[in-house]
Amino acid sequence: MNRAINFSAGPAALPTEVLEQAQAEMLDYAGTGMSVMEMSHRSAEFIDIAERAERDLRELLQIPDDYHVLFLQGGATLQFAMVPLNLLGDRGTADYVNTGSWSTKAIKEAARFCSVNVAASAEEHGFDRIPDPETWACSPDAAYLHICSNETIGGVQFHSFPDREAGRDVGPPLVADMSSDILSRPIDVSRFGLIYAGAQKNVGPAGLTIVIVRKDLVGAARPGTPSMLDYAVHAEAGSMSNTPPTYAWYLAGLVFAWVRSLGGVAAVEERNRRKAAKLYEAIDGSNLFRSPVVEEARSTMNVPFTLPAGELDAAFLAGATERGLLNLKGHRSVGGMRASLYNAVPESAVDALIAYMREFETDHLR
Ligand code: PMP
Repeated sequence: MNRAINFSAGPAALPTEVLEQAQAEMLDYAGTGMSVMEMSHRSAEFIDIAERAERDLRELLQIPDDYHVLFLQGGATLQFAMVPLNLLGDRGTADYVNTGSWSTKAIKEAARFCSVNVAASAEEHGFDRIPDPETWACSPDAAYLHICSNETIGGVQFHSFPDREAGRDVGPPLVADMSSDILSRPIDVSRFGLIYAGAQKNVGPAGLTIVIVRKDLVGAARPGTPSMLDYAVHAEAGSMSNTPPTYAWYLAGLVFAWVRSLGGVAAVEERNRRKAAKLYEAIDGSNLFRSPVVEEARSTMNVPFTLPAGELDAAFLAGATERGLLNLKGHRSVGGMRASLYNAVPESAVDALIAYMREFETDHLR
């Protein structure tokens, strides 16, 4: 067997240990004589899997008791609509900070339901930075303030969050799309009203979406909201209002246990910082590769980099594939290269990439 070195942005590499455990349990989960895919979501075995996953996630992220943890479907994209449908209440405005492609999509969807105030945007800078929070022009009557904590395509990440707690809860609830950096570092959940994330990067396979929402924000969905889009319906039913994505939920549980076995999110953050620092150092120290993102906003999860002339991209990517370094092509909207360094990407993968980049530079620098 030859496991690829997989830098995919998502669906992305999963920990080998997790896949091995899923493989070992595939035909006969815990003596049931069936796979988790084949069992009722109401069975005692699955309820145990579901509850354990939630418990582990709560422990990993230290999620306070006054938050619901929901295991939903529809991807982060459905949250672009569910957030306004559920949180607007009787307000007609929401604040959004535009830091790139995913914020832009969230804004576009929210604009179907309310007047969106773009409190700040990095568009004029080609989305290479996080706009300074001191300059954000928030609206006095916004129902919530939405950010994308990590822009998967642009490789721009919030390294601190606007202050919403510690005795100065000055604004509306902070909502964050954490699809591509959830579980990559400790976060203070109490500073957020709602956090959502598609699972297919740091959590598990596609098909599962995690929502962490403060309980007092649930229950005021706008009239006419389909019940499947109402957080209250899912919270009431323990995310089993209909058949949940059982296998993805089970795999997410295995990933949570794996993160615990590594020492939790603080230990994982240290690893992630080391991996990213190495790669950025190699890019900055090179005369060929460059990072399009300002230093203080660089993502530890998605590292875009460019070559001076676009025509070298194809040669770089072909050589990478030959060496088993896969999925390094940048998103079709921005081009260039992108290495995604999610939790399951080992440090040795980064070392292999850096070694290849040095080799490529020697061969191509004129
Ligand atoms: N937000 C971010 C930050 C993402 O990276 C993605 C997917 N790459 C999405 C939203 C959309 O997620 P989904 O495909 O699960 O709807």
